[in-house]
Amino acid sequence: MTETGPAEPAGCGPRLRKASDSRPLRLQVFEAVRSLGCLPRAEIARALGISAASVTAVTADLINDGFLEEGATAPPRDAARGRPPVGLAVTGRAGFVIGLKLSDETHTAILADFAGTILAEIAHPTSNLRKPPARILSELEALVAALLSQVALPLDQVAGIGIGITGLVDHHAGTVLWSPILDGRDFDLRAAARNRLGRPVFVDNDANLLTLSELWFGAGRELDDFAVVTIENGVGMGVVIDNALYRGARGTGLELGHTKVQLDGALCRCGCRGCLEAYLADYALAREAATALGHSIRAEHSPNAMLDALGAAARAGDEAAQSIFRRAGRYLAIGLSNVIQIFDPELIIVSSDRMTRDHADPEAILADVAALSPSGRHPGARVEIRPRGDFTWARGGAALALSAVTEQVLERA
Ligand SMILES: [Zn+2]
Repeated sequence: MTETGPAEPAGCGPRLRKASDSRPLRLQVFEAVRSLGCLPRAEIARALGISAASVTAVTADLINDGFLEEGATAPPRDAARGRPPVGLAVTGRAGFVIGLKLSDETHTAILADFAGTILAEIAHPTSNLRKPPARILSELEALVAALLSQVALPLDQVAGIGIGITGLVDHHAGTVLWSPILDGRDFDLRAAARNRLGRPVFVDNDANLLTLSELWFGAGRELDDFAVVTIENGVGMGVVIDNALYRGARGTGLELGHTKVQLDGALCRCGCRGCLEAYLADYALAREAATALGHSIRAEHSPNAMLDALGAAARAGDEAAQSIFRRAGRYLAIGLSNVIQIFDPELIIVSSDRMTRDHADPEAILADVAALSPSGRHPGARVEIRPRGDFTWARGGAALALSAVTEQVLERA
C-alpha cells in the first residue's frame, strides 16, 4: 500500500483504445492525439490501426478546422536517428470547458482547454447548511463568473460545464435525487444550470467525478479496470471497466456505502441497517466520538469538529479514540475485499483526506483485506490510500465535460 501514484504521462484522457470503436474516425484521431500528448502521423496510424493515407486526410481536416497543430515537440526516441518527425498536438484554444464541484464547505471550479491544460482554478467558501436550489444556482453563477474573469474568457466560449454534487445523482436525467446540501428532492440541476448559464451542462455524483479525474488525468489512464473508493460524509465508489467509467443501468452510480456488512447492524442515514457507511463515514465516526469524548466535547459541535477532536485524541494515545479508527479500518477492509471479489480491479484508489491523516495504519487495513480473500486466489488488487487534492473533483468535472462535448464541437466545425 502506497500513498503516492506514478508520474503522470503526457496528454489527457483514457489511453487504451477499444478493439471495436465505431465512432467517427475524426473523433478517434483527435482523441488519440489528445491522450498521447503529441505524436507523428505514422504513430497515429499505428495506434488506430488505419492507413497512413487516412491519417493524412483526417489530420489535414483537423488542422484546417483549428483542432490540431503541427510543429510541437515530437517524442524524443527518434532523436538519435536524425531529425525527429513532425508531431501533431491538440490546439488547446480549440475549445474550453469548466469543471465544478458543489460542496457543503467549499465550492471549487477549474477552467481547462481542449488539450486538458488547466488555465484557471477557484475556490469559494460556503456555509454547510442545506440550501434552496435558487441559492445554489446563484453561488454557481458567481463561481463561474469569478473563474472566467481570471483569464478574461467570455462565457459563450465555454463548450460545456461538468458539475459534481454530493448525494444521489441521476447522470442520464441530470437530476439530483437527493443531496445533503440541497433542500427538497428531484432537482433538475442540469436544466436549471443550463438555463441560468446558457451553456451545455452535465451532472454527476462526486465519486464518479473523482474516478473520471483518475481516468483522464491520473493513474487510471492506462488501466483497463480500476475502482475509486471515497470516504468522507458518505462512502462512494466509481468503477472503470475496459478503460471507461461504468455507470450501471440507471446512471445513479455505485453505492458501496449502502452495501450491507452486518445483519440488523448500525442504523444508516439512508434508513436501512448494517450499511458499510454506518461504520465508516464521517457521520458514523462522529456518532462514536460523541460517546468516546463525552466529557470533552459538546453535542452541538459539528461532525467535522468532533472528528478533528477524535483524530487528535487518537494521535495523543487515547485508547478509546484509537479503537474507533481501528474498527473503521476493519470495516473498510471488508468493503475493499468485497469490491475485489466482485470486480477484480487492478487498482483500488482510496481517496480520503481524513483516512490519510487519522486512520493510522494502512498496513493493517491491507493485511485485513488479504485475510478476507479466499486462499489460493492470486494476490489481487493494489490498494493506494491517498489524500485528495482540493481541485481533484473539479478536474473530474472538466473530464466529464470534455468527454461529453468533444464530438459535438468537432462535428460543428
Ligand atoms: Zn445506507
